[in-house]
Amino acid sequence: MSFERSLRCRECAREFPLAAAFFCEFCFGPLEVAYDYDAIAASISRESIAAGPATLWRYADLLPGDPEYRVDLGAGFTPLLRADNLAAALGLDRLWIKNDTVNPTWSFKDRVVAVAIAKAREFGYTGIACASTGNLANSVAAHGARAGMETIVFIPHDLEEGKVVGSGIYDPTLVMVEGSYDDVNRLCTEVAQSKPWAFVNINVRPYYAEGSRTLGFEVAEQLGWRTPDHCVVPMASGSLFTKIWKGFNELHEVGLIDEPRTRMSGAQAAGCSPIATAFEEGTLNFRPQKPDTIARSIAIGNPADGYYALKTLEETNGVAAMATDAEIVEGMKLLAETEGIFAETAGGTTIACLKHMVERGQIAPGEETVAFITGGGLKTTEALQGGLASPLHVPARGDAFIEAYEARLAPAATTAGGA
Ligand SMILES: *Cc1c(COP(=O)(O)O)cnc(C)c1O
Ligand SMILES: [Zn+2]
Repeated sequence: MSFERSLRCRECAREFPLAAAFFCEFCFGPLEVAYDYDAIAASISRESIAAGPATLWRYADLLPGDPEYRVDLGAGFTPLLRADNLAAALGLDRLWIKNDTVNPTWSFKDRVVAVAIAKAREFGYTGIACASTGNLANSVAAHGARAGMETIVFIPHDLEEGKVVGSGIYDPTLVMVEGSYDDVNRLCTEVAQSKPWAFVNINVRPYYAEGSRTLGFEVAEQLGWRTPDHCVVPMASGSLFTKIWKGFNELHEVGLIDEPRTRMSGAQAAGCSPIATAFEEGTLNFRPQKPDTIARSIAIGNPADGYYALKTLEETNGVAAMATDAEIVEGMKLLAETEGIFAETAGGTTIACLKHMVERGQIAPGEETVAFITGGGLKTTEALQGGLASPLHVPARGDAFIEAYEARLAPAATTAGGA
Protein backbone atom coordinates (compact mmCIF):
# COMPACT_ATOMS: atom_id res chain seq x y z
CA MET A 1 0.00 0.00 0.00
CA SER A 2 1.08 3.58 -0.47
CA PHE A 3 1.70 6.12 2.28
CA GLU A 4 1.80 9.22 0.08
CA ARG A 5 -0.44 11.90 1.54
CA SER A 6 -0.21 15.11 -0.49
CA LEU A 7 1.92 17.30 -2.68
CA ARG A 8 3.73 19.90 -0.60
CA CYS A 9 5.35 23.13 -1.81
CA ARG A 10 9.10 23.11 -1.14
CA GLU A 11 9.00 26.87 -0.53
CA CYS A 12 5.82 27.74 1.42
CA ALA A 13 4.91 24.19 2.61
CA ARG A 14 1.27 24.56 1.48
CA GLU A 15 -0.27 21.19 0.71
CA PHE A 16 -2.20 20.14 -2.37
CA PRO A 17 -4.06 16.97 -3.36
CA LEU A 18 -2.10 14.24 -5.14
CA ALA A 19 -2.56 15.16 -8.81
CA ALA A 20 -0.56 15.75 -11.97
CA ALA A 21 0.71 19.10 -10.72
CA PHE A 22 4.24 20.35 -10.28
CA PHE A 23 4.22 23.93 -9.00
CA CYS A 24 2.55 25.76 -6.12
CA GLU A 25 -0.43 27.89 -7.09
CA PHE A 26 0.49 30.43 -4.41
CA CYS A 27 4.24 30.96 -4.73
CA PHE A 28 5.20 28.93 -7.86
CA GLY A 29 7.60 26.83 -5.75
CA PRO A 30 8.15 23.21 -6.85
CA LEU A 31 5.95 20.51 -5.34
CA GLU A 32 7.23 17.40 -3.61
CA VAL A 33 5.41 14.26 -2.43
CA ALA A 34 4.70 14.20 1.32
CA TYR A 35 4.28 10.92 3.21
CA ASP A 36 2.88 9.67 6.48
CA TYR A 37 6.20 8.64 8.03
CA ASP A 38 4.62 7.32 11.23
CA ALA A 39 2.49 4.92 9.22
CA ILE A 40 5.52 3.88 7.16
CA ALA A 41 7.56 3.29 10.33
CA ALA A 42 4.77 1.08 11.69
CA SER A 43 4.56 -0.88 8.44
CA ILE A 44 8.16 -1.60 7.43
CA SER A 45 11.31 -3.07 8.93
CA ARG A 46 14.75 -4.06 7.69
CA GLU A 47 13.40 -7.62 7.45
CA SER A 48 10.29 -6.75 5.44
CA ILE A 49 12.44 -4.83 2.96
CA ALA A 50 14.95 -7.67 2.71
CA ALA A 51 12.07 -10.06 1.93
CA GLY A 52 10.95 -7.88 -1.01
CA PRO A 53 11.89 -8.21 -4.68
CA ALA A 54 15.44 -7.50 -5.90
CA THR A 55 14.24 -4.31 -7.60
CA LEU A 56 13.37 -0.80 -6.45
CA TRP A 57 9.90 -2.12 -5.54
CA ARG A 58 11.40 -3.54 -2.33
CA TYR A 59 10.97 0.08 -1.11
CA ALA A 60 7.34 0.31 -2.33
CA ASP A 61 6.15 1.53 1.08
CA LEU A 62 8.45 4.54 0.68
CA LEU A 63 7.31 5.30 -2.88
CA PRO A 64 4.20 7.01 -4.26
CA GLY A 65 1.68 5.08 -6.31
CA ASP A 66 -0.77 2.20 -6.30
CA PRO A 67 1.01 -1.12 -7.05
CA GLU A 68 -1.75 -2.06 -9.48
CA TYR A 69 -0.38 0.42 -12.05
CA ARG A 70 3.26 -0.64 -11.94
CA VAL A 71 5.24 -1.19 -15.13
CA ASP A 72 8.05 -3.44 -14.02
CA LEU A 73 11.19 -3.89 -16.10
CA GLY A 74 13.21 -4.79 -13.01
CA ALA A 75 14.85 -1.41 -12.36
CA GLY A 76 16.99 -0.88 -9.30
CA PHE A 77 18.72 -2.92 -6.58
CA THR A 78 21.93 -2.66 -8.55
CA PRO A 79 25.31 -3.78 -7.14
CA LEU A 80 27.29 -1.74 -4.63
CA LEU A 81 30.84 -2.83 -5.42
CA ARG A 82 33.88 -2.37 -3.23
CA ALA A 83 36.46 -0.62 -5.47
CA ASP A 84 39.85 -1.33 -3.90
CA ASN A 85 41.87 -0.93 -7.10
CA LEU A 86 40.41 2.48 -7.87
CA ALA A 87 40.70 3.46 -4.20
CA ALA A 88 44.42 2.66 -4.30
CA ALA A 89 44.86 4.62 -7.54
CA LEU A 90 43.14 7.65 -6.01
CA GLY A 91 44.58 7.40 -2.49
CA LEU A 92 41.40 6.44 -0.60
CA ASP A 93 41.03 3.73 2.04
CA ARG A 94 37.44 2.66 1.36
CA LEU A 95 35.64 3.37 -1.90
CA TRP A 96 32.44 1.87 -3.30
CA ILE A 97 30.90 2.10 -6.75
CA LYS A 98 27.11 2.15 -6.95
CA ASN A 99 26.82 0.57 -10.38
CA ASP A 100 23.62 1.83 -11.97
CA THR A 101 24.85 0.99 -15.47
CA VAL A 102 23.13 -2.39 -15.15
CA ASN A 103 19.55 -1.10 -15.12
CA PRO A 104 17.08 -2.27 -17.84
CA THR A 105 18.01 0.60 -20.18
CA TRP A 106 21.50 1.03 -18.71
CA SER A 107 20.99 4.17 -16.66
CA PHE A 108 19.53 5.27 -13.33
CA LYS A 109 16.65 6.90 -15.24
CA ASP A 110 14.79 3.56 -15.07
CA ARG A 111 14.21 4.32 -11.39
CA VAL A 112 12.49 7.64 -11.97
CA VAL A 113 10.53 6.41 -14.97
CA ALA A 114 9.26 3.31 -13.15
CA VAL A 115 7.71 5.53 -10.48
CA ALA A 116 6.46 8.24 -12.88
CA ILE A 117 4.78 5.90 -15.37
CA ALA A 118 2.91 4.05 -12.61
CA LYS A 119 1.55 7.36 -11.33
CA ALA A 120 0.69 8.48 -14.89
CA ARG A 121 -1.35 5.31 -15.42
CA GLU A 122 -3.04 5.76 -12.07
CA PHE A 123 -4.04 9.29 -13.14
CA GLY A 124 -5.55 7.81 -16.32
CA TYR A 125 -3.02 9.03 -18.87
CA THR A 126 -2.71 6.92 -22.01
CA GLY A 127 0.27 8.87 -23.41
CA ILE A 128 3.72 9.10 -21.80
CA ALA A 129 6.34 11.66 -22.84
CA CYS A 130 9.54 13.38 -21.71
CA ALA A 131 12.12 16.05 -22.44
CA SER A 132 15.43 14.21 -22.35
CA THR A 133 19.20 14.52 -22.59
CA GLY A 134 19.11 10.90 -23.87
CA ASN A 135 18.88 8.37 -21.09
CA LEU A 136 15.43 9.45 -19.98
CA ALA A 137 14.17 9.04 -23.56
CA ASN A 138 15.53 5.47 -23.64
CA SER A 139 13.82 4.59 -20.39
CA VAL A 140 10.48 6.24 -21.19
CA ALA A 141 10.47 4.52 -24.61
CA ALA A 142 11.11 1.12 -23.02
CA HIS A 143 8.60 1.47 -20.19
CA GLY A 144 6.03 3.03 -22.53
CA ALA A 145 6.37 0.06 -24.90
CA ARG A 146 5.92 -2.43 -22.07
CA ALA A 147 2.87 -0.54 -20.82
CA GLY A 148 1.37 -0.34 -24.32
CA MET A 149 1.06 3.44 -24.04
CA GLU A 150 1.41 6.06 -26.73
CA THR A 151 5.01 7.20 -26.24
CA ILE A 152 6.52 10.49 -27.36
CA VAL A 153 10.11 11.37 -26.51
CA PHE A 154 11.85 14.67 -27.22
CA ILE A 155 15.65 14.92 -27.45
CA PRO A 156 18.21 17.42 -28.77
CA HIS A 157 18.84 16.72 -32.49
CA ASP A 158 22.57 16.06 -32.13
CA LEU A 159 22.72 13.33 -29.44
CA GLU A 160 25.01 10.29 -29.49
CA GLU A 161 23.96 7.48 -31.85
CA GLY A 162 23.61 5.04 -28.92
CA LYS A 163 21.06 7.28 -27.24
CA VAL A 164 19.08 7.74 -30.47
CA VAL A 165 19.03 4.01 -31.33
CA GLY A 166 18.43 3.25 -27.65
CA SER A 167 15.10 5.05 -27.95
CA GLY A 168 14.23 4.17 -31.55
CA ILE A 169 14.30 0.41 -30.98
CA TYR A 170 11.15 0.64 -28.82
CA ASP A 171 9.40 2.52 -31.65
CA PRO A 172 8.19 5.64 -29.84
CA THR A 173 7.46 8.89 -31.63
CA LEU A 174 11.02 10.19 -31.43
CA VAL A 175 11.26 13.96 -31.78
CA MET A 176 14.69 15.47 -32.46
CA VAL A 177 14.53 19.15 -31.57
CA GLU A 178 16.80 21.73 -33.16
CA GLY A 179 18.38 23.16 -30.04
CA SER A 180 19.90 22.23 -26.69
CA TYR A 181 18.22 20.29 -23.89
CA ASP A 182 17.04 23.57 -22.40
CA ASP A 183 15.21 24.31 -25.68
CA VAL A 184 13.72 20.78 -25.62
CA ASN A 185 12.50 21.35 -22.08
CA ARG A 186 10.89 24.67 -22.97
CA LEU A 187 9.14 23.12 -25.98
CA CYS A 188 7.81 20.23 -23.88
CA THR A 189 6.49 22.55 -21.18
CA GLU A 190 4.50 24.27 -23.93
CA VAL A 191 3.30 21.02 -25.55
CA ALA A 192 2.24 19.67 -22.13
CA GLN A 193 -0.40 22.39 -21.99
CA SER A 194 -2.16 21.26 -25.16
CA LYS A 195 -1.60 17.49 -25.25
CA PRO A 196 -3.05 15.02 -22.73
CA TRP A 197 0.29 13.36 -22.09
CA ALA A 198 2.16 12.73 -18.87
CA PHE A 199 5.58 14.31 -19.35
CA VAL A 200 7.49 12.35 -16.72
CA ASN A 201 9.90 15.19 -15.86
CA ILE A 202 7.42 18.05 -16.26
CA ASN A 203 3.79 17.60 -15.21
CA VAL A 204 4.38 14.46 -13.10
CA ARG A 205 7.87 15.56 -12.00
CA PRO A 206 7.13 15.35 -8.24
CA TYR A 207 6.55 11.56 -8.57
CA TYR A 208 9.38 11.06 -11.07
CA ALA A 209 11.86 12.72 -8.70
CA GLU A 210 10.91 10.35 -5.86
CA GLY A 211 12.35 7.40 -7.78
CA SER A 212 15.89 8.74 -7.28
CA ARG A 213 15.61 8.27 -3.51
CA THR A 214 15.87 4.51 -4.06
CA LEU A 215 19.59 4.99 -4.81
CA GLY A 216 20.00 6.32 -1.28
CA PHE A 217 17.85 3.55 0.20
CA GLU A 218 19.90 0.87 -1.55
CA VAL A 219 23.30 2.23 -0.58
CA ALA A 220 22.24 2.38 3.08
CA GLU A 221 20.80 -1.14 2.99
CA GLN A 222 23.79 -2.56 1.10
CA LEU A 223 26.23 -1.03 3.61
CA GLY A 224 24.35 -2.90 6.36
CA TRP A 225 21.84 -0.14 7.23
CA ARG A 226 24.20 2.78 7.61
CA THR A 227 25.29 5.70 5.45
CA PRO A 228 28.79 6.40 4.09
CA ASP A 229 30.95 9.39 5.07
CA HIS A 230 30.86 10.86 1.58
CA CYS A 231 28.86 10.53 -1.65
CA VAL A 232 29.96 11.81 -5.06
CA VAL A 233 27.04 12.19 -7.48
CA PRO A 234 26.74 13.60 -11.04
CA MET A 235 24.45 16.62 -11.31
CA ALA A 236 22.31 17.60 -14.31
CA SER A 237 19.08 19.18 -13.03
CA GLY A 238 20.42 18.46 -9.53
CA SER A 239 17.40 16.32 -8.65
CA LEU A 240 19.19 12.99 -8.16
CA PHE A 241 21.78 14.67 -5.94
CA THR A 242 19.19 16.15 -3.59
CA LYS A 243 17.04 13.01 -3.55
CA ILE A 244 19.82 10.66 -2.41
CA TRP A 245 20.24 12.93 0.61
CA LYS A 246 16.47 13.01 1.14
CA GLY A 247 16.39 9.22 0.99
CA PHE A 248 19.03 8.87 3.72
CA ASN A 249 17.09 11.25 5.97
CA GLU A 250 13.82 9.44 5.39
CA LEU A 251 15.37 6.10 6.39
CA HIS A 252 16.34 7.79 9.63
CA GLU A 253 12.87 9.32 9.97
CA VAL A 254 11.25 5.87 9.81
CA GLY A 255 13.76 4.41 12.24
CA LEU A 256 15.82 2.20 9.92
CA ILE A 257 19.20 3.97 10.30
CA ASP A 258 21.04 6.42 12.55
CA GLU A 259 21.02 10.10 11.66
CA PRO A 260 22.99 10.50 8.40
CA ARG A 261 26.19 12.55 8.58
CA THR A 262 27.13 12.00 4.96
CA ARG A 263 28.85 14.78 3.03
CA MET A 264 27.14 15.12 -0.35
CA SER A 265 29.42 16.23 -3.18
CA GLY A 266 28.47 16.88 -6.79
CA ALA A 267 30.15 16.41 -10.18
CA GLN A 268 29.61 18.41 -13.35
CA ALA A 269 31.33 18.77 -16.71
CA ALA A 270 33.35 21.98 -17.09
CA GLY A 271 31.41 22.58 -20.33
CA CYS A 272 28.12 22.68 -18.41
CA SER A 273 28.71 23.59 -14.79
CA PRO A 274 26.11 26.08 -13.55
CA ILE A 275 25.87 24.40 -10.13
CA ALA A 276 29.61 23.82 -9.61
CA THR A 277 30.36 27.38 -10.74
CA ALA A 278 27.85 28.87 -8.29
CA PHE A 279 29.34 26.68 -5.56
CA GLU A 280 32.83 28.02 -6.30
CA GLU A 281 31.48 31.57 -6.25
CA GLY A 282 29.79 30.92 -2.89
CA THR A 283 26.28 31.78 -4.08
CA LEU A 284 22.97 29.87 -4.06
CA ASN A 285 21.93 31.61 -7.28
CA PHE A 286 23.41 29.90 -10.31
CA ARG A 287 23.65 31.53 -13.72
CA PRO A 288 22.34 29.46 -16.67
CA GLN A 289 24.95 28.29 -19.18
CA LYS A 290 24.99 27.17 -22.80
CA PRO A 291 26.25 23.55 -22.63
CA ASP A 292 29.31 22.46 -24.57
CA THR A 293 30.56 19.08 -23.35
CA ILE A 294 30.77 15.40 -24.31
CA ALA A 295 28.84 14.60 -21.11
CA ARG A 296 25.52 15.07 -22.89
CA SER A 297 23.38 13.23 -20.33
CA ILE A 298 24.21 15.81 -17.67
CA ALA A 299 24.33 18.86 -19.94
CA ILE A 300 21.52 20.96 -18.48
CA GLY A 301 22.37 24.65 -18.63
CA ASN A 302 19.37 25.79 -16.56
CA PRO A 303 19.00 23.13 -13.82
CA ALA A 304 15.51 22.89 -12.29
CA ASP A 305 16.87 21.78 -8.90
CA GLY A 306 20.10 23.77 -9.02
CA TYR A 307 19.14 25.92 -6.05
CA TYR A 308 18.24 22.88 -3.92
CA ALA A 309 21.45 21.12 -4.95
CA LEU A 310 23.44 24.14 -3.74
CA LYS A 311 21.47 24.08 -0.46
CA THR A 312 22.28 20.37 -0.02
CA LEU A 313 25.98 21.04 -0.69
CA GLU A 314 25.88 23.72 2.01
CA GLU A 315 23.87 21.68 4.50
CA THR A 316 26.08 18.59 4.27
CA ASN A 317 29.44 20.36 3.99
CA GLY A 318 29.92 18.84 0.54
CA VAL A 319 31.84 20.24 -2.41
CA ALA A 320 31.18 20.55 -6.13
CA ALA A 321 33.80 20.00 -8.81
CA MET A 322 33.97 20.06 -12.59
CA ALA A 323 35.93 18.06 -15.14
CA THR A 324 37.09 18.93 -18.66
CA ASP A 325 36.15 16.66 -21.55
CA ALA A 326 39.68 15.20 -21.60
CA GLU A 327 39.45 14.47 -17.87
CA ILE A 328 36.04 12.85 -18.39
CA VAL A 329 37.51 10.42 -20.92
CA GLU A 330 40.40 9.69 -18.52
CA GLY A 331 37.81 9.05 -15.79
CA MET A 332 35.92 6.58 -17.98
CA LYS A 333 39.16 4.74 -18.75
CA LEU A 334 40.38 4.75 -15.16
CA LEU A 335 37.12 3.22 -13.88
CA ALA A 336 37.11 0.58 -16.61
CA GLU A 337 40.80 -0.31 -16.26
CA THR A 338 40.79 -0.53 -12.46
CA GLU A 339 37.34 -1.99 -11.74
CA GLY A 340 35.95 -3.46 -14.95
CA ILE A 341 33.03 -1.04 -15.14
CA PHE A 342 32.23 0.67 -18.45
CA ALA A 343 30.47 3.93 -17.68
CA GLU A 344 29.21 6.62 -19.99
CA THR A 345 30.57 10.17 -19.95
CA ALA A 346 28.55 11.08 -16.81
CA GLY A 347 30.41 8.28 -14.98
CA GLY A 348 33.70 9.60 -16.28
CA THR A 349 32.71 13.00 -14.92
CA THR A 350 32.04 11.51 -11.49
CA ILE A 351 35.38 9.70 -11.34
CA ALA A 352 37.32 12.73 -12.63
CA CYS A 353 35.66 14.99 -10.05
CA LEU A 354 36.24 12.43 -7.28
CA LYS A 355 39.93 12.49 -8.25
CA HIS A 356 40.00 16.30 -8.05
CA MET A 357 38.35 16.23 -4.62
CA VAL A 358 40.88 13.75 -3.23
CA GLU A 359 43.83 15.65 -4.74
CA ARG A 360 42.58 18.91 -3.24
CA GLY A 361 42.15 17.33 0.19
CA GLN A 362 38.37 17.88 0.04
CA ILE A 363 37.90 14.16 0.63
CA ALA A 364 40.27 12.76 3.27
CA PRO A 365 41.83 9.31 2.62
CA GLY A 366 39.92 7.85 5.58
CA GLU A 367 36.45 9.00 4.44
CA GLU A 368 34.39 6.04 3.28
CA THR A 369 33.13 7.20 -0.11
CA VAL A 370 30.46 6.03 -2.56
CA ALA A 371 30.73 7.13 -6.21
CA PHE A 372 27.44 6.93 -8.13
CA ILE A 373 27.92 5.60 -11.66
CA THR A 374 24.63 6.39 -13.33
CA GLY A 375 24.87 5.26 -16.96
CA GLY A 376 26.47 2.63 -19.21
CA GLY A 377 29.32 3.32 -21.63
CA LEU A 378 28.07 1.63 -24.80
CA LYS A 379 25.77 4.61 -25.35
CA THR A 380 28.65 7.11 -25.58
CA THR A 381 31.40 5.33 -27.52
CA GLU A 382 31.99 8.48 -29.62
CA ALA A 383 33.76 9.99 -26.62
CA LEU A 384 36.40 7.26 -26.77
CA GLN A 385 37.12 7.46 -30.49
CA GLY A 386 40.91 7.30 -30.95
CA GLY A 387 41.41 7.21 -27.19
CA LEU A 388 41.94 3.47 -26.71
CA ALA A 389 44.95 1.26 -27.51
CA SER A 390 44.56 -0.02 -31.07
CA PRO A 391 43.85 -3.77 -31.35
CA LEU A 392 46.38 -6.20 -32.78
CA HIS A 393 45.33 -6.85 -36.35
CA VAL A 394 46.61 -10.26 -37.49
CA PRO A 395 46.15 -12.84 -40.20
CA ALA A 396 44.71 -16.13 -38.87
CA ARG A 397 48.12 -17.75 -38.40
CA GLY A 398 49.90 -18.65 -35.14
CA ASP A 399 53.30 -17.28 -36.14
CA ALA A 400 51.77 -13.99 -37.27
CA PHE A 401 49.95 -13.61 -33.98
CA ILE A 402 53.09 -14.39 -31.92
CA GLU A 403 55.06 -11.84 -33.91
CA ALA A 404 52.44 -9.13 -33.44
CA TYR A 405 51.99 -9.98 -29.76
CA GLU A 406 55.71 -9.80 -29.02
CA ALA A 407 56.01 -6.58 -30.97
CA ARG A 408 53.24 -5.12 -28.77
CA LEU A 409 55.10 -6.21 -25.61
CA ALA A 410 58.28 -4.45 -26.72
CA PRO A 411 57.17 -1.82 -29.22
CA ALA A 412 60.18 0.50 -28.81
CA ALA A 413 62.75 -2.28 -29.27
CA THR A 414 60.95 -3.64 -32.32
CA THR A 415 60.77 -0.24 -33.96
CA ALA A 416 64.47 0.30 -33.32
CA GLY A 417 65.37 -3.21 -34.61
CA GLY A 418 63.23 -2.85 -37.71
CA ALA A 419 64.61 0.56 -38.61
C1 LIG B 1 19.88 12.30 -15.88
C2 LIG B 1 21.23 11.82 -15.48
C3 LIG B 1 21.90 12.26 -14.31
C4 LIG B 1 21.43 13.34 -13.37
O1 LIG B 1 20.14 13.69 -13.36
P1 LIG B 1 19.49 14.88 -12.52
O2 LIG B 1 18.76 15.69 -13.53
O3 LIG B 1 20.58 15.68 -11.86
O4 LIG B 1 18.59 14.21 -11.57
C5 LIG B 1 23.09 11.66 -13.99
N1 LIG B 1 23.63 10.69 -14.76
C6 LIG B 1 23.04 10.25 -15.88
C7 LIG B 1 23.72 9.19 -16.67
C8 LIG B 1 21.82 10.79 -16.27
O5 LIG B 1 21.24 10.31 -17.39
ZN1 LIG C 1 4.30 27.60 -2.30
